Amino acid sequence: MTAAGVVIDLGGTHLRLGHLSAQGPSAAEEKIKTEGLRRGEPIGFIAQRVQDYAQTRNLMVTGVVIGVPFTPNHDLTAAVSSPNIPNLEGVPLASGLSAALGCPVRLERDINLLLMGEWRAGAAQGVGSVFGMFVGTGVGGCYLENGAPFRGSTGAALELGHIPIRSEGAVCGCGNVDCLEAYACGRVLERWADEVGVPVGKIFTEGLTHPTLGPRLGAFTDDLARALATGVNLFHPEVALVGGGVTEMPDFPKERFVGTFFAHLRRPVPSETLSLVWATLGSRASLYGAAGLI
Ligand SMILES: [Zn+2]
Repeated sequence: MTAAGVVIDLGGTHLRLGHLSAQGPSAAEEKIKTEGLRRGEPIGFIAQRVQDYAQTRNLMVTGVVIGVPFTPNHDLTAAVSSPNIPNLEGVPLASGLSAALGCPVRLERDINLLLMGEWRAGAAQGVGSVFGMFVGTGVGGCYLENGAPFRGSTGAALELGHIPIRSEGAVCGCGNVDCLEAYACGRVLERWADEVGVPVGKIFTEGLTHPTLGPRLGAFTDDLARALATGVNLFHPEVALVGGGVTEMPDFPKERFVGTFFAHLRRPVPSETLSLVWATLGSRASLYGAAGLI
């Protein structure tokens, strides 16, 4: 039996399990649909998945870290708001799972885990300060100083997806209007892809020259770049890091993104001192990020 920490990435539609042992992060991760989680009792559902995962691999689970896509409470033990998986709200996830599995369990914002992973083993290795933006289904922001995340008074600071970006009245999933996510995130791309009949994975490849979609994708890119510039102008980090499924899609207009981003930075600093880097570890960054927590 191998002693290992289990890392869970809790997404809207799937949860992914991986583990960390003395040999390092697991090579492959297991992806499970979260339908059962939405229908049933969440602690029992997750505990069973962890036990099955450990049994198949002959692991002795020494701790669990869960990367959560929702707004956690200040102690990082439960969800304050979880629009995608509403039955997690108010559930004492950390203590309940800890009792069920007999080991320490802690939650962390999924975005923090990703950036901590890039800081430990990826594109932002060891830098003193880094501001990260990850664009997937939604948009998340985070800031690390010497590897430690800035949390604000609530534990859930840096909701970059919900900064106001335009004034056209588009409604965001959070209930507010004109949030960044109402204009620029993976969900928006999925809607546009359906509208024009292009596979979402090829939306930049086929869409940038499309007469109506092209300009929208340009504005989409600029909105994301402005949001990152806002974060960088506020925090003045040494490095800004961009990652997530959307920016890793084929033909994502990186050049346009970089141009808009630097055009909005305050000069001479942070404009002349900042390095902009792209994430290198993909979703596996959370495994590396959890290494310091288990
Ligand atoms: Zn919002």
